[in-house]
Amino acid sequence: MSSQEYLSTRDSSPPYLSFEDTVLRGLAPGGGLFIPAAIPTLPADFLTTWKDLSFEDLAFNVFSLYISADEIPAADLKNLIAASYSTFRSDTVTPLVPLDKARKLYLLELFHGPTYAFKDVALQFVGNLFEYFLTRRNAGKDPKDPARERLTVVGATSGDTGSAAIYGLRNKTDVSIFILHPQGKVSPVQELQMTTVTDPNVHNLAVKGNFDDCQDIVKSLFDDKQFNDKHHLGAVNSINWARILAQITYYFHSYFSLLRLSSGADKPTVKYVVPTGNFGDILAGFYAKRMGLPIAKLVVATNSNDILDRFWKSGVYEKNPAAATSGEEAVKETLSPAMDILISSNFERLLWYLARENLAATPIEAGQILQSWMVELKTTGKVAVPRPVLAAGLAEFSSEAVSDAQTVDTIKSVYSSSQKYVLDPHTAVGVTASLRNIAADPSAYYISLSTAHPAKFGDAVDRALAGVDDVYSFDKVLPEDFKKLESLPKNVTLVDKPDRELVKAEIEKALKEEGVVF
Ligand SMILES: *Cc1c(COP(=O)(O)O)cnc(C)c1O
Repeated sequence: MSSQEYLSTRDSSPPYLSFEDTVLRGLAPGGGLFIPAAIPTLPADFLTTWKDLSFEDLAFNVFSLYISADEIPAADLKNLIAASYSTFRSDTVTPLVPLDKARKLYLLELFHGPTYAFKDVALQFVGNLFEYFLTRRNAGKDPKDPARERLTVVGATSGDTGSAAIYGLRNKTDVSIFILHPQGKVSPVQELQMTTVTDPNVHNLAVKGNFDDCQDIVKSLFDDKQFNDKHHLGAVNSINWARILAQITYYFHSYFSLLRLSSGADKPTVKYVVPTGNFGDILAGFYAKRMGLPIAKLVVATNSNDILDRFWKSGVYEKNPAAATSGEEAVKETLSPAMDILISSNFERLLWYLARENLAATPIEAGQILQSWMVELKTTGKVAVPRPVLAAGLAEFSSEAVSDAQTVDTIKSVYSSSQKYVLDPHTAVGVTASLRNIAADPSAYYISLSTAHPAKFGDAVDRALAGVDDVYSFDKVLPEDFKKLESLPKNVTLVDKPDRELVKAEIEKALKEEGVVF
């Protein structure tokens, strides 16, 4: 079993897939998610030989363990990495900054990419990968050849994913991207970030309706076999393995940064605290830990959409107990909207490992267990895992749920106590969870992941800080890049009602305008 081939969480039997097929397919047949057939181990001396490497060199070392050089030769992989992280504003890509040295609390700033949120770290790489594979598959074909392999990426967004995906895929050969957003219902900065990208392969559809309408349309397009076969629909949501892989790098990078910043700390106990929605960000930490990075604990921080917090406290993975009695299924709207979810799609990947290690004799059996759990979740709205499975998980994970009121309090208190550092609300959910952990275990070092720049979520930050002193104003937090967006030309098409056929027609019209032959 190799860490460079991939199996599905719901049918884990061979043949396994190559990295290329895994990335281009996104989702496994039958709804499963792809995972590596084995977790690679690190060179025995990595703590010394890797510790001073740049972000890019660490990325190369990590990615090489999961991608065969037969698929991407080393020189090509290095170029892909260099191209992906040259767009970041920080030399170190994901800098680690001390937030409260006395309490050994550090922030891992993941928001220095083009759209100012952590999703850039993965999506910049994914865009380059798509282009690399398609260019190779189309070598020697004429630009107008209808036999060219193409991808039509279609996604719905309430903000963060859409802009990061657009910046990752803009101007890529043989890829078109269509992002549906609910018209007037994403934050003004996020709307501008998406609609001011005017590359010919980028298409924003502003749908009159809400986010769920957009998501329903996207799902129905993927279910539409004829349309899907015709246009080769692709997805860039966080179930794509390449996104998880790309995020592993910053766990290594931040660990080594911490060793430097805390000079003198010998083999420190390090806990990572991660603001969590779909469990993609923290899952990368799990892989880093299993590869051998000495992470003492991974702390899940949720907002009031707390399915994961409830799981870690009960062993029951249940959509929303209140909804079951009231008949509604709504996600709660919070100040940290990128974490507003009903279920966490990547959690299935962790459940597979827990099943494999605690219940199953073989990978195939683990796949069967996962299949039955996921069917149960779908039909009854919940699934309970056996006690030993929960206990095994709790050896590596813990969790905290954080309300909006606590989020606002943390933004305020951190601002006052830390040289005016302004947290975005997602990061503040994580910092709140960190502070609770510090109270319980002050001896450890804490790395709290900072997932967005505060200006992206100005409403929440304003609510916390407006009037606190005469230093803070939203205008000062706003980067120059954002101020410029207002005056740029827009690229957006209004879809008058949330109707699948209207969206299909818009997609085909836009593809024709791009010169795509179908
Ligand atoms: C997507 C996102 C998250 C949640 O990450 P997951 O991988 O879905 O757990 C947290 N914060 C911000 C700002 C995000 O955009």
